[in-house]
Order: sequence, then structure tokens, then C-alpha cells
Amino acid sequence: MMSRLPQTLLRPIQALGTGFIDLVYPPQCEICGGKLSAPAHLICDGCLQAVPLRGYEIHDFSVHGEVGLDGAWCLLDFEPTIQTLIHLLKYSRRPNVVLRICNFWRAEIVALLEKESFDLVAPIPLHTRKARERGYNQVTKLARWLGENLGIVSDAKLLKRNRYTATQTQLNAAERFANVDGVFDVTRDVTGKHILLVDDVLTTGSTANSCALTLKNSGAAGVKLLTLATPSRGGA
Ligand SMILES: [Zn+2]
Repeated sequence: MMSRLPQTLLRPIQALGTGFIDLVYPPQCEICGGKLSAPAHLICDGCLQAVPLRGYEIHDFSVHGEVGLDGAWCLLDFEPTIQTLIHLLKYSRRPNVVLRICNFWRAEIVALLEKESFDLVAPIPLHTRKARERGYNQVTKLARWLGENLGIVSDAKLLKRNRYTATQTQLNAAERFANVDGVFDVTRDVTGKHILLVDDVLTTGSTANSCALTLKNSGAAGVKLLTLATPSRGGA
């Protein structure tokens, strides 16, 4: 007697199961709730076209003290659709939503970043306590996607927090600077490297700046940041 079904038999049964689930619960757009042509799409084409890629660069950071960041890109405008998307990304464990957007704008994002000749891409690390609460680091997948598509190394462990920091939301610029000053360690040789850091949202940039200063002090030649959007700049 067979204890396991052969793969050739199992696959059509699995496909039938997925089809049945789609029939009972048709896949819906994560943003507007409309029907999706394919479940893996997560966002409908209409919603995707409603969030045009901006890809603008910011040089003025409201950070206290030395500025280590050479620039920061925001891919999208901080408008309601994007806020829904970022919320999904942060709290509903839907990092693939952002990958869907990145894949949609793949050529443009690659063209934007390719000319910078980055050597390395790395996410800004969450404190382990926060990472545990959320279950995953939501920007790690984005950093990995960028590494794959730019053909460069992505290293989720490039930066390591050496101590816990209080939440930044209630702090002013000087307090934010003190809060994140020297909390990161670099885990590999970055001498002469051009590094792209990745975060979901750019607020004051103090955490990214602290990462950038640490990397520069370790010999990095340049550090820029890529984020999805920033609340300081609304619609176009
Ligand atoms: Zn939609």
C-alpha cells in the first residue's frame, strides 16, 4: 500500500484546491478591494497606475549634528494609497505588496539607482524586540529585491544594533540624535564602498543618518538611502 501520493497525482489535487479557494474567496486588491486577475498580484492594475513612481532625491535632512547621508530617494508620493500600502507592509505582514509595486516599476527603479554604482545594499535594522513583535523586518525583502535587480550584494546583517533605543515618535531632533547616536555596529569591511540603505518611510532621517555616520567612520565612501515615501512631502 502507498503511504504517500506520488507528486504527479498530488499537483493537480493541490491546483484544484487553490482553484476552489479562489472561487469561494476571490482574490481581492489589497488597496481597493476590487477583483484581481491573478491572486499573486495583490494590487490591481488600476491602483498601481494610481501611484506613479516619482523617484525624487532629498538632500536636506532635519537631523541634529553631523550629516552622514549623501542623499535619500523617495520612490512614491505620501498619499492615501501609499499610506494604506505602508500600513499593510508594516502591520499586516504583506511585504509582497511592495514587491508587486517594485516589479511593476522595475526598469525605472533600476535606471534610477544603477547610475550610482552602489556596491552593497542593506536594510536599516529594527531593534530585535521590535522585529520580534512584528515577526519580520519589513524592509529586508525590499533590500533583497534591490540587490537582485541591481546585481549587487544585499546584506541584511550589515548593520547590527548594539543596544535598545526608545521609540522616536515623541522626540525632537536633538533627542532623536542622542537616541540613535552610536547604536549601530558594522559587521563587514566597507572600506571604499558605496552603500545603499533601505527603509520603508523617511521621517527625520535620524536613524538612517546614524547608520550612515557609522558606515562612513568604518571607511565607506558614500551612503544613500532609499525609502518608499516621506510624510514631509505629500502629493506631487
Ligand atoms: Zn485596487
